[in-house]
Amino acid sequence: MTPKSAAPVLVTGATGYIAGHVIKELLANGYIVRGTVRDTSATHKTAHLRALPGGERLEFVAADLTRDDGWAKAVDGCEYVMHVASPLPNHTPKNEDEVIRPAVDGTLRVLRACADDPGVKRVVLTSSIAAIRIGHPDDGRARTEDDWSNLDKCPVYPKSKTLAERAAWDFMADKGSAAGFELVAVNPGLVLGPLLNDDSSTSVETLRKLVNRELPGSPRLGFAVVDVRDVAIAHRLALETPAAAGNRYIVAGEHLWLKDMASILAAEFNPRGYRIPTRAIPNWVMWLAARFDKTARLALDFINVREHLSADKARRELGWSMRPVDETLIATVDSMIELGMVRDREKASARG
Ligand code: NAP
Repeated sequence: MTPKSAAPVLVTGATGYIAGHVIKELLANGYIVRGTVRDTSATHKTAHLRALPGGERLEFVAADLTRDDGWAKAVDGCEYVMHVASPLPNHTPKNEDEVIRPAVDGTLRVLRACADDPGVKRVVLTSSIAAIRIGHPDDGRARTEDDWSNLDKCPVYPKSKTLAERAAWDFMADKGSAAGFELVAVNPGLVLGPLLNDDSSTSVETLRKLVNRELPGSPRLGFAVVDVRDVAIAHRLALETPAAAGNRYIVAGEHLWLKDMASILAAEFNPRGYRIPTRAIPNWVMWLAARFDKTARLALDFINVREHLSADKARRELGWSMRPVDETLIATVDSMIELGMVRDREKASARG
């Protein structure tokens, strides 16, 4: 394929789940891609990316969100930058700065490097609905891009995403046209969908545990799910749509309780010999589990919470659409099976 442009698109945090799909989407659409990784010698973390169709148009450079060095070189020669990297913890850290500082300072490091480089035209920032929906009453109103999470009620991860996105828009407001580039934010819901490698992301952990029966049933957790492939398309559209400049876009579907996800998966996989549990775990069990288990403790903040958001703006302005959630859930588990992340024991015992 002839490259779309001689200038590479920079994707930060190339080793991540979403970044992998963003890179795949960009390569499939003819872009040259440069990915940042913390350590270029850890080639096992990027083997799945180099094997992608178009992988010969992909290169890697070293940069860390917590350090200044590397960012000027990373953006050099790029017109477009996708800032995807940010810590996605699977437990509450002892010190919240472990998550907040890389998120906020890292975003500002990337933006400063872009402002210092006259070639950069647009930055697409991977934010989250965690920067939009936290701390509002469940009054039935779908949250939109006009909403911001209430920092006083945010656990650490939503706090990091809210502060990082706010810092990015404040940076743009301070710099004005002197920034020399445009900013677009993409705000995904809970991202599920096929994994490109077996380095499981925090967002698919609950499904992995359910399928492996490490979770005996579904706590009353629910999410506005979005497919990682559709998130990647949204990032490309945010880069390619001129009128998107200066906007944030929610990309998320209808709220779905984990128990309903389990039923969809059981209908598909249990006839194939898996035993995905469909029972509900009462809330009091979660409270008890949280006394011993760090992940259960993190989940407590989200028990009984309904995620009600509108992705109409992305549909209208980016021409974005979402595949059916059943397809997303089934593709997630199919990829886990293919990557050897689902224990065969249940399958064998179910066959008797
Ligand atoms: P992920 O698989 O955990 O990827 C996180 C990436 O950030 C990894 O590449 C990681 O690099 C990198 N990173 C973390 N700390 C870093 C540091 N100090 N310096 C450089 N890189 C660092 O998570 P993901 O699900 O793909 O999430 C990617 C982005 O999407 C994040 O901004 C997240 O907030 C956002 N998001 C995710 C979801 C979701 O449901 N997954 C939903 C909404 C928004 P290493 O491999 O070196 O650790």
